[in-house]
Amino acid sequence: MTNWVYTFGGGKADGTARDRDRLGGKGANLAEMARLGLPVPPGFTIATDACRHFYANGRTLPDNLQREVQEALGALERLTGKTFGDGDDPLLVSVRSGSRESMPGMLDTVLNLGLNDKSVEALARASGNPAFAYDSYRRFIQMYASVVLGLDHSLFEEIIDRVKEESGATRDGDLKVDHWRGVIDGYKIAIAEELDEQFPQDPGEQLWGAIQAVLKSWMNPRAVTFRTLHNIPEGWGTAVTVQSMVFGNMGEGSATGVAFTRDPATGEDNLYGEFLPNAQGEDVVAGIRTPHPLTKPQAHGSDLVPMEDAMPVTFQELKEFARRLENHFRELQDIEFTVQAGKLWLLQTRDGKRSARAAIRIAVAMAEKGLISKAEALRRIDPASLEQLLHPTISPDVERIVIGRGLAASPGAATGEIVFTSEEAEQLRASGRKSILVRPETSPEDIHGMHAAEGILTTHGGTTSHAAVVARGMGKPCISGAGAIRINTEKRVMLTGGRTLTAGEVITIDGTRGEVLLGALPMVQPELSGDFATLMDWADDIRRMKVRANAETPEDALTARGFGAEGIGLCRTERMFNDEERLRAMRSFILADNNQARDEALTAMQAMQKADFLELFEIMRGLPVTIRLFDPPLHEFLPRPGRETEQTAQALGIDPERIRQRAEDLHEVNPMLGNRGVRLAICYPEFIEMQARAIFQAVMEAGEKTGEKVVPEIMVPLVAYERELKFIKDRIDIVAVAVMEEWGAKLDYLVGTMIELPRAAIRADKIAESSEFFSFGTNDLTQSTFGISRDDSGLYLNEYLRKGVIDRDPFITIDVDGVGEFIHMAAERGQKTRPDITLGICGEHGGDPASIAFCETVGLHYVSCSPYRVPVARLAAAQATLAERAEQ
Ligand code: ADP
Ligand code: MG
Ligand code: MG
Repeated sequence: MTNWVYTFGGGKADGTARDRDRLGGKGANLAEMARLGLPVPPGFTIATDACRHFYANGRTLPDNLQREVQEALGALERLTGKTFGDGDDPLLVSVRSGSRESMPGMLDTVLNLGLNDKSVEALARASGNPAFAYDSYRRFIQMYASVVLGLDHSLFEEIIDRVKEESGATRDGDLKVDHWRGVIDGYKIAIAEELDEQFPQDPGEQLWGAIQAVLKSWMNPRAVTFRTLHNIPEGWGTAVTVQSMVFGNMGEGSATGVAFTRDPATGEDNLYGEFLPNAQGEDVVAGIRTPHPLTKPQAHGSDLVPMEDAMPVTFQELKEFARRLENHFRELQDIEFTVQAGKLWLLQTRDGKRSARAAIRIAVAMAEKGLISKAEALRRIDPASLEQLLHPTISPDVERIVIGRGLAASPGAATGEIVFTSEEAEQLRASGRKSILVRPETSPEDIHGMHAAEGILTTHGGTTSHAAVVARGMGKPCISGAGAIRINTEKRVMLTGGRTLTAGEVITIDGTRGEVLLGALPMVQPELSGDFATLMDWADDIRRMKVRANAETPEDALTARGFGAEGIGLCRTERMFNDEERLRAMRSFILADNNQARDEALTAMQAMQKADFLELFEIMRGLPVTIRLFDPPLHEFLPRPGRETEQTAQALGIDPERIRQRAEDLHEVNPMLGNRGVRLAICYPEFIEMQARAIFQAVMEAGEKTGEKVVPEIMVPLVAYERELKFIKDRIDIVAVAVMEEWGAKLDYLVGTMIELPRAAIRADKIAESSEFFSFGTNDLTQSTFGISRDDSGLYLNEYLRKGVIDRDPFITIDVDGVGEFIHMAAERGQKTRPDITLGICGEHGGDPASIAFCETVGLHYVSCSPYRVPVARLAAAQATLAERAEQ
């Protein structure tokens, strides 16, 4: 076998789909399709090794490459019966890039290579279609000049526009042979003027120029940025595929298009895509002409003839090939095809990008059909993507003022202020405002803006345009091709449906229906039934860890239960003092200067807390509820100096000076490391006794009301010394005994602690003597392990990320090596003292899939996360179990 070059075609290939590291995704799958006997124009792929060689050796090509390419080209001539160069029937090729992971539109491609002043005449004769031949030639010059010679394509657009104007043609398709000849002459003159040299006529020179240009495109700034964003190593390199051309621009019986084996927005099992009659590949994505749909339902409401009607026989064939490819790869396929005078050719296939909703529907359908296992279906869904499905859509019964329509390119709804540039979207985002990015079409430079915006609206492009593909990947709503909307970026206005809207005005886009709506609209919660529920059931069957939610309000508890939470892992009691009346009670406690005032405040707070807990227990009906005793420093509850202080003093009937005095007493230089958590409880035991009493009374009442036994888990925060916990636990036990006597009934409860300080992790064996459970408070544990404050760390951690000092923000994904080691140690030491100790995690990390995977390896019993993350955690926990099983 050769070293650098791998051929494919005529039912055979040197490589297979498994060779993507070497042949790139495109080259490997072309080889696979050729082996499957599918109609693939023959060609050969130069392996990625050549790209690595190129960059390792001062941008020079390997020695044998020239010879191997010559041989492969000779074989290609024999297979196609055409000759590369000046023969009667010229062989034309495309030179295509292809990396291991798809990098759509980032690398370069040249089509129709091999044409020159002589071979274009031969092509005109051989095809009997001179208009086609000259159209191909001018396309080639244009592409070659931009990709290989580095000229700006606007240079050529001007020339075409001039010829069109002179001839009175409106569309490219109206231009005749002589016009194209004029265009070509214009191109050649422009190139000679710009570069001081002639357009290369030698096909060999053209070929090597294109091969090197494709290799160089690996390092173009777009590609470099894309790789950084997607974690693609530079060392992978690109393959170069040289493939004999097939032509979709031979007239009305010819076409080019893109097909998905299923609908990538909904997952529906129907061929989905777009095509353009009489066109070449690049035209579909370029957005110059509006592509036609493939099928009738997709064409709904449009007057463009679907492929199903325009080319019924070819369409059936395409459908069959699509089915075969999907069954073969067991994945949604995104296919490029070209029809040359009625004959269908496949030019590319790859796993298709899809919305989160479609991903679930497809994975479930494939597992139910037996194409993949349930475990595989679970592995295929990105847990983080589920969150987008849980977010609201527009309420069905509100009045919708539709001010524009376009293609439903990515589902879901979003509201925001109109912005016309990605920079504006980022600015708004930075100031906490929401935007809808409105553009003629997006390009890779807009990725940042698309991230920053809530949704994307474009006036050009189809459902496979850049905007549509990227938005679906991000899970953002998108409407594309809203052709009736006019944008004036300079004046920062858009004209639609007789209205003029200025940047900053609020619109809503419905990406599921393709409607642009005026103003902000009420949204509703999605229904989590059907495939979503099925997938969640499968996840629940597999996962070992339980999933609880962090919740303190009844709304949060209800949402959490709706999303399948199996308990509350963190109820932050201080959050129950946010409303005005409660805040007042809290303040009178803090400001009390005698026992009577203090007792009155405590009595009032006890009644409020009891009512809160009762509500939570009723909603959770016997599921575990972990209640964390008061955690933050007291001064957070005092009014701000000035007017607020005056008002509070008046409401409480005290001297404002008393508030100022108290604020001064409680002032701390570093509150994060201050008098909070268990420290506060030791200073003011009466406060936690009040909380314990409220909890126990609520337990008794809830038990009576629901008939279900409640076992509260009382959690003491910020413990470092084992004796801190012992001190508090003794007090809680005394309260329990008193409540049991009052009610004449028995109470079951657990007392435990958070492990959120390094000392606690180290002394976990001792702490476990009075702790019946550990909950890892990973926000504080991360802060205290690193000695950095989460609230202030954004600036330098981003710098660390950018400069490659760290790979992940430790406040988002657990730092396994440091913080993780503490968790490991504490779990082990705790279990040594108390083998049946319950272990959980309640920090922000409890909803992060990578951190959940870590929790599985430590053997935690549950993770607790915010209500909207519960489904994410259920799936991530299932994946973690599957991964652990695979390890063993
Ligand atoms: P990208 O990776 O940007 O999609 P491709 O290499 O796939 O670039 O090529 C761009 C377009 O040209 C695609 O639509 C493709 O189908 C088309 N194309 C590539 N090679 C050929 C060929 N040999 N014959 C006809 N069309 C081709
Ligand atoms: Mg492609
Ligand atoms: Mg904490």
